[in-house]
Amino acid sequence: MGEPVILDGRKVAQAIREDVSERASHLKQAKGITPCLATILVGDDPSSATYVKMKGKACEKVGIDSKKVTLPADITQDDLMSTIQSLNDDPAINGILLQHPIPSHLDERAAFEAIDPEKDVDGVTSASFGRTGLGFGQYPSCTPGAIISILDYYDIPLEGKHAVVVGRSPILGKPVSLLLLNRNATVTICHSRTVDVAAKVAEADVVVAAVGKPEFVKGHWIKEGAVVVDAGYNPGNIGDVEYDASYQKASAITPVPGGVGPVTIATLLKQTMESAEKSAGLNKS
Ligand code: NAP
Repeated sequence: MGEPVILDGRKVAQAIREDVSERASHLKQAKGITPCLATILVGDDPSSATYVKMKGKACEKVGIDSKKVTLPADITQDDLMSTIQSLNDDPAINGILLQHPIPSHLDERAAFEAIDPEKDVDGVTSASFGRTGLGFGQYPSCTPGAIISILDYYDIPLEGKHAVVVGRSPILGKPVSLLLLNRNATVTICHSRTVDVAAKVAEADVVVAAVGKPEFVKGHWIKEGAVVVDAGYNPGNIGDVEYDASYQKASAITPVPGGVGPVTIATLLKQTMESAEKSAGLNKS
């Protein structure tokens, strides 16, 4: 097997950002509207604060405004829900992102569900999940959307291929499985109760690792010529796939970092842009 294609997420993210930037200028010129993403940070968890800051900066670079809403860690559920409601009602806000996780005394699912699906650009509501499953595509959870964008950018065929997804979380494993199914892949979903994950992965034409365990997917499990997408991101910049050994077997592989991660943020920008265009009557899809 020759060298695999490196599925360069930074390149894909750059292409998405350029497109969003152009569309933002067009929307400004045509309608005088600047898209706006509201981010809600509850409490003072440093990693969450960093993620929110990164997302705000990414918006700024492509001509999207961001409104940062910071709430105290001891906020009540009612106050959180009314904050979300007021953002739902604000016509200047096109997207709402509630940074996960929120403090444990709060019901995160209820808070997610309070987001208007038309503004759910992070794809966390059950309405968005249902639409993803039914193939409306508005708006899938960002990491699954990013994975499909990477595969499309590199013209990786999915129809008729056997995709094995390791992980079934509501934000990643399950929705990416639906997106792959919508593309006519035959999908196997593995989880913590799956018997012999290695044997399932060994049959895959496309492997998506979304386990949250460093180097869980071993190189020797990978079928010769398979496409390997590593959504994992563990401390020390380590993915969920054993990279070096998988590199020897794969026909294409995402690096960590620089694979799925950058495209996830770019997808959030793209979906905010789509929401703004839709509310301005430019994009009815
Ligand atoms: P999660 O909610 O912890 O889900 C992990 C999934 O892996 C679960 O479905 C779990 O199965 C499954 N699993 C755990 N142990 C397993 C085993 N031994 N065999 C088979 N399956 C097993 O994690 P997540 O939020 O989906 O995130 C997964 C990874 O993606 C993490 O590394 C995270 O950092 C990364 N991530 C990256 C991005 C990005 O933008 N790149 C975004 C989000 C997440 P059960 O359902 O049976 O428990």
